[in-house]
This record gives sequence, structure tokens and C-alpha cells, in this order.
Amino acid sequence: MVLCSVSAFEPAFEPVLEKLTAGLEPVCDVCKAGVEAVQEVWLHGTVLQDGVIDLVVAICEYKKIPKAMCTGLIPPFAEVVIPAIGNHYLSPEFLCYKAHLCSTPKYVEMNVTQVVQSILADAPPALSWPEPGPVAYRFLHVSDIHVDLLYQAGSAMSCPYESCCRFDLGTTNETTEQAGYWGALSNCDPPIRTVEAFLQQAAGLDIDFVLWTGDNPSADYWLYNRETHLQNSQALTDLFLQYFPGVPVYPIMGNHACYPQDQFHLGNEQWLTGGLADMWSVWLNPESQATFADNAYFSQKDNRTGLRILGINTQMCDNLNLWLILNDTDPGNHLEWLRQELYEAEASGELVLIIGHIPMGDHFCSSTWSTIYRAVVNRFRNIIRGQFFGHTHLDMFQVVSSLTPNDPPAGVLYIVPSFTTHTAHQPSFRVFEMDADTLQIVDYANYRLNLPLANQNPSQQPVWDLAYTAKAEYSLPDLSPASWSSLSLDFQDSNSPLLAKYWKNYANEYPHPGPLTGNQSIAEAMHKELWCGTSNAVFDELVQCAGLVGGDHTFKLLQELAGPWQNLVA
Ligand SMILES: [Zn+2]
Repeated sequence: MVLCSVSAFEPAFEPVLEKLTAGLEPVCDVCKAGVEAVQEVWLHGTVLQDGVIDLVVAICEYKKIPKAMCTGLIPPFAEVVIPAIGNHYLSPEFLCYKAHLCSTPKYVEMNVTQVVQSILADAPPALSWPEPGPVAYRFLHVSDIHVDLLYQAGSAMSCPYESCCRFDLGTTNETTEQAGYWGALSNCDPPIRTVEAFLQQAAGLDIDFVLWTGDNPSADYWLYNRETHLQNSQALTDLFLQYFPGVPVYPIMGNHACYPQDQFHLGNEQWLTGGLADMWSVWLNPESQATFADNAYFSQKDNRTGLRILGINTQMCDNLNLWLILNDTDPGNHLEWLRQELYEAEASGELVLIIGHIPMGDHFCSSTWSTIYRAVVNRFRNIIRGQFFGHTHLDMFQVVSSLTPNDPPAGVLYIVPSFTTHTAHQPSFRVFEMDADTLQIVDYANYRLNLPLANQNPSQQPVWDLAYTAKAEYSLPDLSPASWSSLSLDFQDSNSPLLAKYWKNYANEYPHPGPLTGNQSIAEAMHKELWCGTSNAVFDELVQCAGLVGGDHTFKLLQELAGPWQNLVA
């Protein structure tokens, strides 16, 4: 019997294929001409664009959203949506190929499983968690400061806008509803004096270096512009320099640094990437400044500890970044850059911390991006000593599962609760402890401000309380990924006392929403969110575990809009 393989069959089939596709070309040309005309109207038809913008603004106002928010947000977003959709979905190459009317260029979907396998191909055996020595280093992690440079004590802490605590956004005679001197537990961001008070206290905690993981502007995003964004970062940078002179600070930007919010157009954001690279030149070496100015990421060795700090730009995975519709396939080769940096660190015998803004399992982060990130973490699990993120404003952790059977989990993402109060969160920060021998994270202390108490004494500097230390709070034998994974598994039991503690810290609200009881369906959904959220570091897998909840629907839709990772083949 003769077996006919596919490759043996192909040469015979090729002439037939050629004839078929050659026959299509006149139709292809007609298609391209037609789509080009539609694309032209979409991209440059100002009457049409203005009409669509007016319609969306009208719908926004009909929904009782303040006019200033509708008119402040929709036109800048239209400047992203129109070219992103028009240059991808309405491009002749894309539409005519997808309609099977043109044979080239081809859009070839990447096989993500194969990419993952190729990343893991040369993975060394997973080493066991080393026994740490005594604590030698302390580092500060703070995120989502969202400082409000226009904060006004005495204004209304509730208002129809997304962000309040300014007299022009709302006033009230009710003293209990007025913004406090040090901040307000509401839809408000903190005044800069509260940031200064925190830095004053943190400066006395014997800190060796600082991780500052982004989101510096306040949440008044309908008023955003490029100048105020840089002013916010500059004001905070000045304070870090004042209170931590000579201490390395490793900063990275968040989604709120962008204008419009979340929109990062690769190669076109020099005002931001270059502006921040210049601003942070006191901390970033020339090489890091150059990569930051290009793509907002960096790799830098911390001289005191010998650690390599890899600062990543999570706008490359942000589902809300509509520029990714144009091309979401490893934008800026960021993940490949990360992999190569880790190869170099491995070859040099260096240990690594990764810092970023949006955590991988969050609905903001593209599932393909985080699937490949997880493979990279698995490959380099032996040298990655910690991963630090913010963005959610919640007190969280996410276990990075092992992709090789029988090995313990590959890592853990530490997600610090926000410094901002927005919305009703207690201003927080963390101090991590590390040993000198293995550079393992030994423990962390989570600090929290009792804001109502602080507001009773405007003339007195507020003091952050030590809310808990991780090992003691969660009865962890150590801070290995395996220990965090055991804790996550414990959360499957909705009556777990450790889950109750995690829930209390997770929400970080004042007053706290209370125990996971009461309304049964809410309690069940919250329970799923907590245990699925800690055991999954990929959005689609989180959805499989917990279902689509709240805003997940929008992010899922946006992820679909950006499409699969694909290559354009001529
Ligand atoms: Zn954020």
C-alpha cells in the first residue's frame, strides 16, 4: 500500500491552486478599490465622523452622565477608534483576504501553544525553594497614587462625576459629606500633602530601593491632557527625590499615564515615554532611559543587591488600549525583549524582579499576552525572585501555575493595594523583606492609613498602621509560590478562616463590606472571584473558573476586537 503524505501531495496541487487564485485577482482588485473608497470616507469623512461623535455624545448625556464628561472623553477617544478600526478592519488587505477574494497578503494566525512550547524548550529543571538567610534588604512598593493636585478639603466627597473632592465638582453643607484634610473615602484621589506624609514615614523604614508601579494622575480622566499628566508625575518624582535622596527608585508607568487614558500608540508617544525617561534620568541609567524613551520599558541592575530589575510596559497587553486593534502581536517585541533580558540575566548569574502596572490575570490584560508571559516566567522561574504589580486598587496575589507537570507553581504576582482612596480604599503601601544569600522574599508588611482618624487631626501628621505581615496573617511557612498556591487552594472552601482574612484585606475598604455572608448569590460570586482570582494569571482562564462578571463582558469584547495574534505574510 502506498501512503500519500500531505507534503507529497502539495506539488501536484500547486498548479491548481495557482490557477484558482490567479483567476481571483480581477475580483481582488475590484474588492480592494471598493474597500479603499469606504476606508477613505471612514478615515477622512469629517461630516460622517462629526455625526457619529455627536450621536455618541447625545447617548452619553441621555444616560445622565455629566455633559463635561461626555464632551471631554468621547472626541479624544474617537481620534483613536477611527484610525484603529479604519486602518485594520477597513483596510483592503484585511477585508478582501478575509472575504476570500484576495490570496495575498495572508493573515496567518499564530499557534500560541507552539510559541509556548518553543519558549519552554530549553527550560532547566525547576529548582526547589532555597532556605532563606536572615533579612538583609527592605524595599518599598507603592502603586496607584493618583495624586489630585486640585484636591480641596471641605468640598463634596460625592458628586455626579467619576472623581470628586473639588468645589467646582460639588459642594455640600453636610460636614460628614465634606472632603477631609488628608483625603476622603469616596470617589476621590488624595491631596499631595498625604503623599508627602507617607513618604516621610516610609523614609524612616530603612528602605534599600523603591518600586513605584504607576498611575500617577487622578481619575478626572475627562479633563486629561498631556501637560497635566507630566505635571502629576513630576510632582511625585520631586517628593521621592526629597525623601529618598540617594535611594534607587524604579518607576514604571500605568494606563492612566496615557492620553487619552489607556491609549498607547507604539512609536508615537514620545511626549510621554521621552518625557518620563528625562524626568527619571536620576534613577534610570542611560541604557534604561533609551529603552524607556522608545517603548517605556527598561532593564537595570540594582547595585546594592545585585538584582536585575525588569520594568515592563503593560500597555502592550491592555485590552482597553484600542491602538492594539492595529496589531496586538507582541507589540514592540516586548515579550521577546523580556525573554532575551532573562537569558542574559541567567547567563550572568543574576536574579531578577519584574515590575509592571496591570497584573496578568486582570481583565485589562490580553489573554494571549499573559499566556506567553506565563511561559516566560515558567522558563525563567529559577531566577525570577518576585513580580510586582498594582492597578486593581485591591490587595491581591495571583499564582502563576506550572506548565510542566509535577513541578510546583512557577511564581506569584504581588499586587499592592492602591495608595489612592478611589473608591473608598484606605491608602496603603508595602515593605518587602529580602535575604542577602538567596535574594528570596522573606515576608512583607502591609501598611494602611486610618483616614477618618487622621482627618480628625488636620494639624497632626497621619501615621500609617502596620495592618498585617503576610506570613503571620495567612499562616504561610514561607513566601514560595507553592505556599501561596496552597493558600489559594484553601480558598475553595468558602468557610475558610484564611479566606475571610484575605477578603478583609482584599477589599481594603472603609467601612469594610462585611463578612462573605448575607446575600447568598453575591457571597457565592465573591467567593469565586477570590479563589479563581488567586489561582489564575490569564483572563480567559479566570473567566472559565468564575464566569464573566460585571465589567468582564466589555473587556472580553475588546479582547475579541483586537483579535488573535497573527502575522501578515506577503
Ligand atoms: Zn491602572
